[in-house]
Amino acid sequence: MARNILVVAEVRNGQLRPVSFECIAAGRAIAEGGSVTAVLLSQADVDGSELIARGADRVVLVKGEHLKEYTPDGWLSALQQVYLAEKADVVLMGHTGIGRDLLPRFAMRNAAGMISDAIAVKLEGGQVVFTRPIYAGKAYVTQIVTEGLIVATIRPNNVAALEADAGRSGDVVQSEAAPVDLRTVVKEVVRQAATGVDLTAAKIVVAGGRGVKSAEGFKPLYELAEVLGAAVGASRAAADAGFCDYALQIGQTGKTVTPDLYIACGISGAIQHLAGMSASKVIVAINKDPEAPIFKVADYGIVGDLFEVVPLLTREFKALLG
Ligand code: FAD
Repeated sequence: MARNILVVAEVRNGQLRPVSFECIAAGRAIAEGGSVTAVLLSQADVDGSELIARGADRVVLVKGEHLKEYTPDGWLSALQQVYLAEKADVVLMGHTGIGRDLLPRFAMRNAAGMISDAIAVKLEGGQVVFTRPIYAGKAYVTQIVTEGLIVATIRPNNVAALEADAGRSGDVVQSEAAPVDLRTVVKEVVRQAATGVDLTAAKIVVAGGRGVKSAEGFKPLYELAEVLGAAVGASRAAADAGFCDYALQIGQTGKTVTPDLYIACGISGAIQHLAGMSASKVIVAINKDPEAPIFKVADYGIVGDLFEVVPLLTREFKALLG
């Protein structure tokens, strides 16, 4: 059965977020001959060609002054308008801050089945089957929407994006968002902890815990991250202690990351921290306590003082990577 897929794409710091390409790939995998349309609601200065190159057949750039900053009323109304015009069977978006807020509202408005935080999607016996983690990543469930519109958020870094193909062609159309009464408006955006690499999309994460001991103690972690092109993350204990901003917190009440490589420095491995990183492909733990629970989930463990080990790694990687 051909399905028309609508992917809500996102822009951050002027760049399309990689998870938007991953959602397009997920859409392509289940479209069965239907179309994949990407919609941009954010007024970003993006022409849509990259979305076509990554597998979208069509891009809708929605215009509207009130869409510049995310508000539930503004974006929901604009998304609803595009959804009705495009007659989508499936609506996908990254499991990002905005995706988590917008898509459940959209599903509710349309009385649709909602799958949240999927890490895989495939076709099985003609049905669209999603896999998602439960119990803080200790188990996985497969789920389907039994009838009607399917709405899902996809966790970043889990579905492989399609290679960019500059030769692909597709329509890019503009659409004007209908005016809407906003119950909340954004007066000002104050950006904090603006690090170069987006933590939730990073391929490598270097994370520090209470063992880092101070804000100054994070310095060697930043140096290692710079050599590796990695993002820096933290445990809640490190954020609570004021060593770093809460924007860096990974775990049950922080961000979820799924990098190819996670380097945990001075982190004990509490279940609430594992909830945000245990699905990382390769986990390296550096801890001076050989009994630390983090070693149970680590692929490679280094028992030692992080203030000795991390600079050594930085030096070696620098030599290796030039
Ligand atoms: P610790 O447990 O104190 O571990 C520090 C580690 O550093 C130790 O293993 C020690 O051996 C090692 N160490 C010390 N010095 C060195 C050194 N020089 N070199 C190498 N190793 C060293 N936590 C999160 O991380 N994220 C969350 O989202 C989160 N949400 C929570 C939600 C709830 C409802 C609750 C109750 C807790 C939550 N927590 C969360 C807190 C969690 O339970 C732990 O307290 C926290 O993860 C511990 O952080 P840590 O591993 O950095 O600190």
